[in-house]
Amino acid sequence: MADASLRLAEIVAVGAELTSGAKLNTNSQWLSAELSDLGIVTGWHTTITDDLAINVSALQLAVDRADVVLITGGLGPTLDDLTREALAQLVNEELVLDQESLDLIVRYFEKRGRPMPERNRIQAYFPKSGIALANPIGTAPGVWMSVPRPGKPDCLVGAMPGVPSEMYRMFHEQVVPRLPGRDRVIMKARVNCFGCGESHAEELLGDLTARDRDPEVGITVHDATITLRIIAHGKQEEECRAKIASTDQLIRERLGALVYGVEDEELEDVVAREMRQRGLTLTTIETGTAGELAQRWFKTGSPSYLGGEVLPECRWPHGVGTMEASTYELARATREKANADFALAISPFPPLPKTMSAPPVEVWVALATRSQIISERVLLSGNPAIHQSRTAKVASDLLRHHLAGRTRPCPT
Ligand code: ATP
Ligand code: MG
Repeated sequence: MADASLRLAEIVAVGAELTSGAKLNTNSQWLSAELSDLGIVTGWHTTITDDLAINVSALQLAVDRADVVLITGGLGPTLDDLTREALAQLVNEELVLDQESLDLIVRYFEKRGRPMPERNRIQAYFPKSGIALANPIGTAPGVWMSVPRPGKPDCLVGAMPGVPSEMYRMFHEQVVPRLPGRDRVIMKARVNCFGCGESHAEELLGDLTARDRDPEVGITVHDATITLRIIAHGKQEEECRAKIASTDQLIRERLGALVYGVEDEELEDVVAREMRQRGLTLTTIETGTAGELAQRWFKTGSPSYLGGEVLPECRWPHGVGTMEASTYELARATREKANADFALAISPFPPLPKTMSAPPVEVWVALATRSQIISERVLLSGNPAIHQSRTAKVASDLLRHHLAGRTRPCPT
């Protein structure tokens, strides 16, 4: 008997191209994220090559320890596609022909004006207790099984194709309705912050990120933007919404002005909205960030952004004093020339250190308004891959705080 309280899942990805390193296993990542949306926690990712003995032993282990096992790959028509065979051995059953599936595969080829290659017949064979999962966009049907276990509820096993688009569709249409725990509601929300490091944010959040908290608060960082993901479980949407609202409020109390937006909002989207409401305009000038600042502003599609300049380093006015002074001066002159309310300027980058342990390098950003110029030194250390976006965001963040009538807290 299947039990509605089943919770822990294992994902088994099958394919020599995955274990050899030729192809990245993105299916397991995708499935885990989808399961998490359904409130099912993934306990294990297993990736195995196309080998029958390895397949059977991996499935045996998975079925023993997990309550739901999702398999991806190995359902193709060729000799190295062994998932059906492995499932049959797992439950000690024969593979038997499912006429309906065979008819569907024949029709799939007919529709494309081709005869069905004989070897595709194998895709219509299933372990006796298995159920075929329809694959409307490919030839390989999936398999659904309930595998009995001594002293425990059955393990639910679903096998899907390895082709990502086929797997996505089969998962949504065929697997999700068969998964347990569908009486619970799960809602998610994201709160985005900028202006401090992850560990500092965690410190400020305190017990909010505790693992067993309800609702859960997860913290992820992307290009120096910190995202707090709230996941609430409950019987009804109303209950989840209330849990999210109170946690959202606690986050804002603890992080204050570091919080800039929600869901997919970028820093620039929020600043652009504010500027538009107030009828304000912005221009930019930059060197070190290779146009990152201008790109981020273009993406907002806001009429408040008047465009900007991306200078090659040789055209930056070196030698007019310190780097701070020239950045400052360029912000001032650029604003004046465009007759904008604001200009943001970013200095060239010095050569970046090759190792993570090298001393940080400094760059400058400046904000010119109609009455003042504010500049800030940005110390770049750690992963060089995010230096440009981080610096561009610091510039936009200067403007965000200026618009709110405060200085930027906790300079990075
Ligand atoms: P199917 O069960 O649909 O027959 P298969 O394992 O036989 O799957 P392959 O021919 O091995 O299919 O792979 C089909 C395509 O799907 C290939 O491009 C392969 O790289 C991709 N693929 C297979 N498994 C994964 C995975 N886990 N993550 C990402 N891509 C995958
Ligand atoms: Mg394969």
